Amino acid sequence: MSTDVLVVGAGLSGLAVARRCADAGLAVRVLDRGRRPGGRLGARALDEHEVDLGAPYCTASDDRFRAVVDDWTARGLLRPWTDAFRLAGPDGLGEAKPGPMRYAAPGGMRSLADDLATGLVVERRTVERVGPGPVVDGERVRAVVLAMPGPQAARLLDEEPALARTAQQPYAPVIAVAARFAARTWPEFDGAFVSDLPISWLADDGRSRGDGSPVLVAHTTPEVAGDHLEAPDGVVGEVLDAMRRVLSVPLEPVETLAQRWTFARPTEQRDRTFLLDPSGVGLCGDGWSEKSRVEAAWLSGDDLGAALVGHLR
Ligand SMILES: Cc1cc2nc3c(=O)[nH]c(=O)nc-3n(C[C@H](O)[C@H](O)[C@H](O)COP(=O)(O)OP(=O)(O)OC[C@H]3O[C@@H](n4cnc5c(N)ncnc54)[C@H](O)[C@@H]3O)c2cc1C
Repeated sequence: MSTDVLVVGAGLSGLAVARRCADAGLAVRVLDRGRRPGGRLGARALDEHEVDLGAPYCTASDDRFRAVVDDWTARGLLRPWTDAFRLAGPDGLGEAKPGPMRYAAPGGMRSLADDLATGLVVERRTVERVGPGPVVDGERVRAVVLAMPGPQAARLLDEEPALARTAQQPYAPVIAVAARFAARTWPEFDGAFVSDLPISWLADDGRSRGDGSPVLVAHTTPEVAGDHLEAPDGVVGEVLDAMRRVLSVPLEPVETLAQRWTFARPTEQRDRTFLLDPSGVGLCGDGWSEKSRVEAAWLSGDDLGAALVGHLR
């Protein structure tokens, strides 16, 4: 069967497009350069424990995404984690700041991508070029979707300079550092927004998943990430010092790992949720919605999927 829609990117936005198109009976294939679907819902194993090194949680404010989150929650893929994170800094953990309910995934956030990918054809492949036609690395398709951060999409569109300019969008980097300890020795907290230190976020991974494992995860500020993108492991010492200051306890990890995200989050938002060029090239991802990020990615992909179904019928 020939391909109606070729989706490049198996993060949440690409999988949402693919789901919507496949459910409408279109022939869909998904390509991703990663070993597993999920993109920035990334995880790596620390000891035998998978730790979320990308998004640690999601929120849901839009009714359509809320229905998806409710379904994941009913099936045990998500659990309501907390609606209050602490504010923290060099003097330690401060007051709790109330906010929306944050949902975490007992099996890791990547399990949400695995769920969306069920029944879809996902191939491991790095796409090099998308040209007029649309033609993807020499293969002509009815429509192609670039479901990824703008700078990555723009790189593929060098034969389509106007579209490449539209795709381009500033993104900030983050390095995520996970540290496993022999025991939990820190004060009780779920997650903290951190100021005036090299980290901007610190979370108790064992509490987010609900399994109590002695693992902390921190995200650096974009500035600190920018200084260590070439060698992310070099940031670990600085991050551990920041963790000690926030939690006001000595911390000696058994094991650590660092994950670089060159395009972690968009620093500017668009005023629409996707782009579908009449040539059959679609752009979507978390930079294409004003909602919070996992939700933004899903909504962007779902909206583009609906538009493609209309366009290709
Ligand atoms: C450290 C960190 C913390 C975060 N915290 C939160 C949070 O707490 N809450 C929240 O809501 N969101 C959070 N986010 C954001 C959230 O992870 C993203 O908004 C969401 O996962 C983006 O999905 P996406 O589909 O738009 O892009 P991505 O997940 O980036 O997917 C893009 C995919 O495209 C693939 N790809 C790129 N180029 C090519 C190519 N040439 N060929 C083939 N494949 C390609 C990549 O491999 C990737 O799988 C966080 C992100 C990071 C990095």
